[in-house]
Amino acid sequence: MGSQLQRVKGTRDLLPPETTIWAAVEELARRHFERYGYREIRTPVIEPTELFVRAVGEATDVVGKEMYTFADRKGRSVTLRPESTASVVRAYLENQLVTLPAPVKLFYIGPQFRYERPQKGRYRQFHQIGAELLGDAGPWSDVELLAMLVGLLRALGFAAPTVLLNTLGDETSRTEWAQAIRAFLEPFADSLGEDSRRRLEVNPLRILDTKIASEQALLEGVPRLEQFLSPASREHFEGVQLGLSRLGINYRIEPRLVRGLDYYTHTVFEIVADGLGAQNALCGGGRYDRLVEDLGGSPTPSLGFAIGLDRLIEVLPESFRASCGQQAPVLVIGAHGASALEVLELAEELRAGAIATEAELSGRSLKAALKLADRLGCRFAVVLGADELAAGEVTLRDLGERTQRRLARGGLVGHLVGA
Ligand code: AMP
Repeated sequence: MGSQLQRVKGTRDLLPPETTIWAAVEELARRHFERYGYREIRTPVIEPTELFVRAVGEATDVVGKEMYTFADRKGRSVTLRPESTASVVRAYLENQLVTLPAPVKLFYIGPQFRYERPQKGRYRQFHQIGAELLGDAGPWSDVELLAMLVGLLRALGFAAPTVLLNTLGDETSRTEWAQAIRAFLEPFADSLGEDSRRRLEVNPLRILDTKIASEQALLEGVPRLEQFLSPASREHFEGVQLGLSRLGINYRIEPRLVRGLDYYTHTVFEIVADGLGAQNALCGGGRYDRLVEDLGGSPTPSLGFAIGLDRLIEVLPESFRASCGQQAPVLVIGAHGASALEVLELAEELRAGAIATEAELSGRSLKAALKLADRLGCRFAVVLGADELAAGEVTLRDLGERTQRRLARGGLVGHLVGA
């Protein structure tokens, strides 16, 4: 025997019955997004490396340390997508979706790849459900996108999801703020950890979401963006808050929320839910008003979010799980002279009538077949023997009540549909 192979570290096999839950969540998300006019986009899993370097930013952890990048057979550098916003924007430009009426509203569901240290809720292949709205600058689009997101979480059974909200302002506010943070922290550089010291040079904003307690203490007096916010940025942020209040969406302002990707401007947000630690956001997103331009398009203010599907499913409320139950199958069993083919024929009649049906085709005894029905969780078994065949009937056993009766074969589907 050959040695057994194992999956790649940090990846998972999703198995039934868990896959039923995944499919139900994805289906609910699709229907929910379509109600808001979002249409599905499917982009390749593999993209030119340069896309992420330009879009996500060289100084980010994602691009600097976590990408699955390799040379293809012709030596071109390609990367398994670590996130999908960059791909959606590339596809938007490459396919001239810019000619569609603005805003263009797209959603996606699919795997992403990041070379991170695997731990609970953190994988190297993980999955996101995301949405992007391209081509509107006003705060009401932020509010509508957040309403769609919160509505989805509610439909999945999460009680009162809370939006953690912040603004990064426009380019100028953000740059001035970053400089002020650098100037404030430089005298304490020796007290910072290695990661934060590096960020002090390349991306000081990111130090704000450090998880190290001694660094958090240093940050107490750090300059706030408020001081640098331009009047237009302030107005946008106030608009978002007004809209959220009007629509009854819970939110909390988190002045230190900055998100890990470089392309954000103005609104940024995460959503938290019970059952997950604060650092394990279920979902994050924000505005990226410059990204389309950075990737070669004309100015197209845009925003979006991504939900971590793996984490979402880990904390999925029981009420939703319970609603994902599958129809218990009926088992068709051949006895006393009915052939496997005759069993299969009857099973096909039931399936054509939309009854979930298993066919016992491997010649088990009646006793063993009834045991199988038990293990499959069947409520009914249908027994077909020479007698029944001759009479155009079947024997229907109710496995819960342990009763059985003969029925006309033609009436079986109708009987089971009503049962
Ligand atoms: P990001 O694309 O970094 O904004 O992340 C959006 C969401 O994706 C996060 O809130 C997580 O729920 C999820 N996520 C990010 N990285 C991972 C990972 N390595 N494993 C599982 N989920 C992840």
